[in-house]
Order: sequence, then structure tokens, then C-alpha cells
Amino acid sequence: MENKTNDNKGKMSLTAKVLVGLVAGIVLGLFINILSLNPQGGFIDTYITNGLFHIVGKMFVNALKMMVVPLVLFSLICGVCGIGDLKALGRVGSKSFVLYLLTTAIAIAVAITIASISGIGSGMSMATDTVFAGREAPPLSQVLIDIIPNNPVNALSEGEMLQIIFFAILMGVCILMVGRPAKKVVELVEVLNEIMMKMVTLIMEIAPYAVFCLIAKAMANLGLELFAQLIGYVLVLIGILLLHLFVTIQAVLKIFSGLSPIKFMKKMRGPQVFAFSTASSNATIPVTLRTVTERLGVKNSVASFTVPFGATINMDGTAIMQGVATVFIANIYGIDLGFGGYLTVIVMAVLASIGTAGVPGVGLIMLSMVFTQVGLPLEGIGLILGVDRLLDMVRTAVNVTGDAAVSCIVAKSEGKLDEAVFNDPRAGVISGVEIDHDAEEELADIAKG
Ligand code: ASP
Repeated sequence: MENKTNDNKGKMSLTAKVLVGLVAGIVLGLFINILSLNPQGGFIDTYITNGLFHIVGKMFVNALKMMVVPLVLFSLICGVCGIGDLKALGRVGSKSFVLYLLTTAIAIAVAITIASISGIGSGMSMATDTVFAGREAPPLSQVLIDIIPNNPVNALSEGEMLQIIFFAILMGVCILMVGRPAKKVVELVEVLNEIMMKMVTLIMEIAPYAVFCLIAKAMANLGLELFAQLIGYVLVLIGILLLHLFVTIQAVLKIFSGLSPIKFMKKMRGPQVFAFSTASSNATIPVTLRTVTERLGVKNSVASFTVPFGATINMDGTAIMQGVATVFIANIYGIDLGFGGYLTVIVMAVLASIGTAGVPGVGLIMLSMVFTQVGLPLEGIGLILGVDRLLDMVRTAVNVTGDAAVSCIVAKSEGKLDEAVFNDPRAGVISGVEIDHDAEEELADIAKG
């Protein structure tokens, strides 16, 4: 097992190695960027940043994405079977839904308030020739209809998270209804879930190198001059994201569960770094799920639902970006949205977060839905497009932290949180993949028949 304790004290944990990869990637990427070592088509650009780094990074992100659908499917079926009674399932669903919407609404309301007070964008005039193709928000009725897949295989192949969640819950419920004859199915799914978790552990072994590559490439390609122009927007946004990360989420965690925010944040470093390097809550699901269950002690019956559900509907960081960007662009164009306008922004941002998956850059598409609704010019989004990549990374780290916090709160309230695991700093630490050779031989014998 990877849950080793005392005998591994001397070894560097995987999270520590990933952090080293992260810092080294930032340093190297910025070095390449500042010294302009990667002109387009040059050696470094072709073979290093857009060559080696791109390939290793993409392979890793693909490997993570590869895990998402089977992991969510199997763990959620197991979760539903293991939850005990179906009323508890309803409670977990409604509690997490309310908390996700609540934290997103708080996030954007705070963002709009602070951004308005800061006055960012007022008196600035900026022109852009970057065109941004906006999108209209799908009506709520469509979002609701789309929760039910007309073809579950399609839902699985397209990675439609809400549809997969729906199908898996239904399947779990029906397994429970079938009862004893379905015992073998439950056992099989449980083992499949365990195998998937092992795969996640295995993939994470290469994370330090992959994170290094992903970050070095992203930093090398940042348009730093743009950052200088948009410094007000960037600083206010990052400031509010950090405020939400370190104050709001922690306060919500403490108030609703009484758990220690410090212990929580220490264990969240892993998922935060993954979210930061991939800019995708969805791709981070395997890591978040593993951390929430094995490091924070949330039982799979809660986490298997709250984590994928949160990755899809809970986007506090994204909501903050939408709030700050709305104020910034409204100020640049000299448009006064008024109280009603900002209220619409809050409602729209919360609704848009329900129907859109946590993948890179989706926040800007949601922003275009908000802009269309309140009548702000879509070309305004072109102004912030160039700096969005880095900000996307930061807000995704905030998004996954919110998912994990709500998972802990809901689990605690349902008596499904193992506090001994939560309080044990070494619980679930990965420090090398171990193979049980006896079991290996036994299985080989079975396979040979
Ligand atoms: N990348 C974000 C996420 O996956 C969404 C966004 O803000 O664009 O959570």
C-alpha cells in the first residue's frame, strides 16, 4: 500500500517533489521568457517549450483525463451502494448543492464589491483587435433536460459529468433495489474502483516532471508586456482569489464543520498544484478525489458524489474572475451597470457555473454569457484574453479547494468523516509505488488457470 507511515519519514513525499517541480518550472519558464530565448520557430520554441515540455505535459494531462470517467463511474456506484440509506443520498446531494451555490454567490458578490471600490479600469482606454466569440447562456430548462443522458454510452464517451453522475446514482440505487443477487456486481465495482485508484497513484508518480514541463511552458509563453498593461486587473483579481482561498473558504469550513483550516490547507497542496498546472478542475478530479478520501478522511460514499459534482458546478474562482472582469470592462467602457445589473451578473454567473464543466478557459465563455445578458460589449473580453491563462491556473486551484472544503463539511455533518485520518499529517501520503509480490504470484496463477 502507498499509505506508509514511519518507515518513510526520511523520504521526500510526492507533494514535496511536485512543489519542487512547480518552482523549478516557474523559474526556468520565466528565465526563458524574460531573456526572450524562445522566439517562434527557434530551437527552444520548437524542441523544448513547444516540443518536449508540450509533449510530456499533454501526455500527463491526457493520463489524468483518462482516469476521470471510469473513476467517477465506479466510485459513485460504490458510493451510492455504501451510503446506507437513500435518504442520506438526498441529504448529501442537497447540502452540497446549496453550499456550492452559496460559496459561488459569496465569491462573486465579494469580487464585485472589492473591484468596484478599487475602481479598476476607470479612465483607462484600451483598444483590442482580438475577437472573442461569445456564447449565449443555455436556458435553465435545457440545463435541466441535459442532466438526463439519452444515451449513457455517449455520456461516458463525451465525459458529460452531470449525465454520468445521474446514470451512476441511478445504477447504484437500482443495485440496492435488486439486493442480494447484485452482490457480485457490487464486489466487482468495488474492486474496479480500487484498481482505478491505483492507476491514479501510478500516474501521479510522474507528476513532478510533468508539472515542471507544464509550468515551464506556460511561463515561457506568457505575454509579460500585457501583464504590465493590465496590472490593476491582475492584482485585484489575484488579491480577491487569495482572499477567498485563505479567508472565505476557511471560514466556511470552520463555521460549518469545526475542522482545522490549517490541516485542511496543508493536505490540499497536492490538488492545488495539479489544478494550477492543468487549469482544469475536471482533469484534477482523480487527484482531488484521492486527497479528499485518503488524506482528508471523507468516506467514498460522500466524496464520490461531491467531488465530481463540485468540479462541474462549483467554480468560486471562476465566479470571482467574472465579477472582477465585469467591473473592469464596464469601467473601461464607461458603462454603469447599477445595482440591478450587478445582481443579474451574480445570478447569471451562478447559473452559468451549473451548466459548464471545469475545463481550461471555460470561465471566459461563461463571462460571455454574462456579458450578453447585461449588455456589455463582448469585445471587452478580448482585452483580458491575453492574460487569462495564468489567471485560469490560479482560479482553478481556488475552485478545487472549494470542492474539497464542501466535501469535508458535508461528510462531517453526515458522520462520514474519519477525523483520525483528517488529523494525521501522513495519512494517504504517496511515497513510492509498492507491489505485493505474493499477491502478484497468486494472481498470475489464477490467470494461467
Ligand atoms: N479552468 C477552470 C476550471 O477548470 C474554469 C475556468 O475558470 O475557466 O475550474
